[in-house]
Amino acid sequence: MLKETQETVRKDWDTYFMDIAYMVSTRSRCPRRHVGAVLVQGKKLLGTAYNGAPMGVHDCLEAGCMIAEEIEVKLEGGKERVVKKQRCIRTIHAEQNLLLFTDRADREGSIVYVTDQPCWTCANMLANSGIVEIVYHRSYPKDSEKVAALMEQKGIVFRSLDQFDPPAQAQMEITL
Ligand SMILES: [Zn+2]
Ligand SMILES: [Zn+2]
Repeated sequence: MLKETQETVRKDWDTYFMDIAYMVSTRSRCPRRHVGAVLVQGKKLLGTAYNGAPMGVHDCLEAGCMIAEEIEVKLEGGKERVVKKQRCIRTIHAEQNLLLFTDRADREGSIVYVTDQPCWTCANMLANSGIVEIVYHRSYPKDSEKVAALMEQKGIVFRSLDQFDPPAQAQMEITL
């Protein structure tokens, strides 16, 4: 029988699935970023994925990250500002792996919980994947306005779990 103290601290579903996404992210072998994503329909877990190199090829720990420099033009107060960013392109993003390893029929009407706000490419793919909601924790500033506008246009619920505390076992130092 549950004691009342246990009952009162019972996890809500958002916390439950985001915890799982974080635990999944610990499988990632890219030292720059550990991202986890899970597919949920109703309260059922239908898939898990993390960012990583394709199966059977060298990953970031074996071959090092594959760094690409990207620029983004940001509009600030009517002025254009060029922002440079480095990112690792060796890995397939968690959201993309999630799409590769789940069925379209399972995705229809489902929710994606992802540790990090999706990048533009992932958001664009998720927008066409059948899912109806994206819940994320850490923000990712690149292209975030474009991503939010896309989600609004598609009618996909897009929300962040601001109050969420990642499980201690899933914490990593990000070398960005
Ligand atoms: Zn990497
Ligand atoms: Zn991405």
